[in-house]
Amino acid sequence: MGQSMVAIVEADCTGCDLCIPHCPFEALLPMETSPKERKHKKRPVIVLASQCVGCLSCIGSCPTKALHEVALPPNAILSPLVIPTDDPPTESVVRWGKKGIGWA
Ligand code: SF4
Ligand code: SF4
Repeated sequence: MGQSMVAIVEADCTGCDLCIPHCPFEALLPMETSPKERKHKKRPVIVLASQCVGCLSCIGSCPTKALHEVALPPNAILSPLVIPTDDPPTESVVRWGKKGIGWA
């Protein structure tokens, strides 16, 4: 069995941000801007392929089931963790302090 990571179905993501504090690797972040064709008012959250280690800690956190597991090739050399990917610009999220979202 190969390594896993997660993906988000953009059309099913309402941008509620509930999944963000469930990722200990800060791989779930809001996009800076919404894609042009987006139907939801709020921008989506995306998975940064360069950050996601496939721990699946986030998998049950999405109320719309937009987050799902995807299998990666068993050959590590083909993994997005090894091959650099162009992640789109994302908003930063404050995790600590009085205004921080903390960890779930
Ligand atoms: S919990 Fe689901 S709907 Fe909410 S931001 Fe995350 S992926 Fe999108
Ligand atoms: S699988 Fe783990 S590392 Fe990847 S987005 Fe979910 S919590 Fe973060």
